Amino acid sequence: MQIEAEIFTVTKRFPLTISRGTVAQTANVWVRIYHDGIEGWGEASPFHVGDRPQSTETIKDTLQQITPFLQALSPLQRQKVEEIFTKAQIPSAVRASVDIAMHDWLGKRAGLPLWQMWGLDKNAIVPTSVTVGINSPEGAKTRTQDWLKFMDVRVLKVKLGSPNGIDADRKMLMAVREEAPRQDLYVDANGGWGLEEAIEMCSWLAKQGVKYVEQPLARGMEKSLAALKARSPLPIFVDESCLTSSDIPQLANVVDGINIKLMKAGGLTEAMRMIHTARACGLQVMLGCYSDSTLLNTAAAQLAPLADYLDLDSHLNLINDPFTGAWVQEGKILPNDLPGLGVQRSASAT
Ligand SMILES: [Mg+2]
Repeated sequence: MQIEAEIFTVTKRFPLTISRGTVAQTANVWVRIYHDGIEGWGEASPFHVGDRPQSTETIKDTLQQITPFLQALSPLQRQKVEEIFTKAQIPSAVRASVDIAMHDWLGKRAGLPLWQMWGLDKNAIVPTSVTVGINSPEGAKTRTQDWLKFMDVRVLKVKLGSPNGIDADRKMLMAVREEAPRQDLYVDANGGWGLEEAIEMCSWLAKQGVKYVEQPLARGMEKSLAALKARSPLPIFVDESCLTSSDIPQLANVVDGINIKLMKAGGLTEAMRMIHTARACGLQVMLGCYSDSTLLNTAAAQLAPLADYLDLDSHLNLINDPFTGAWVQEGKILPNDLPGLGVQRSASAT
């Protein structure tokens, strides 16, 4: 297969602040493979979890390095491609972009959307949460109002773990609850709490009707998760603590679920493997995103019928998304019936 990569910039309507910092804009990479007259599309978005950052430059340079190897292979050889990538320790964002493009190619070749190739039931898709980043109580209210005007919001994910401490977290959560009395609330602390703070906050958040807490403790503090779980009335999910399927078995008894993202996992192949590993370990499954455009969230939406929770909202906060694909109905992100991912260039991008 031939492969081409093109950098594009996506800008957020509302910059997003989490416990580790603020993001307003990212440079993502659009990957296209060509084989037998069919194109397959993928995307890599930069992110930083674990030992080394996966920057746009790293992604682009690595894609250049692997081009000669991929030229000798077809998109039907995913096992072979994965073997080469594993041996060469290719960063997961790059693996993901190529794996997704190979899946898109396969669906187009078969003339079927991926969710249908996998025999999945679109009626099993639950509403996605939309994110309110760390803000002042007034700022959080404005952001919540904007989401409610923008779409039929069923669930809000509130980012806590504020550098200003858990009192600021409490005030912000109350502000969101005031604006959205009927919506479900989830909380993601992005590792911003210590163990004692997390125990205190989980009890308090349960009283506020919050459904679960994601990544209360920082990556590297997994040994403290058992102590937290023993005292938390709320289900605990991990995101930064769980990158691929090999991280899951040791988390089985200390958390309730995992957040799977295509960029961390390395694509749809590994995301599917993570779903099955999590189920075998008795864990719940959430699908999430980074600064992903419609292309990546549509790819994730293909797997959405298999998830208990969905957090696929990054593209809904972009002012210059170059793609169209999954659509929003009753708070859900639904894949369409086009073959492969079902992603096209948006009218303004072509
Ligand atoms: Mg998260």
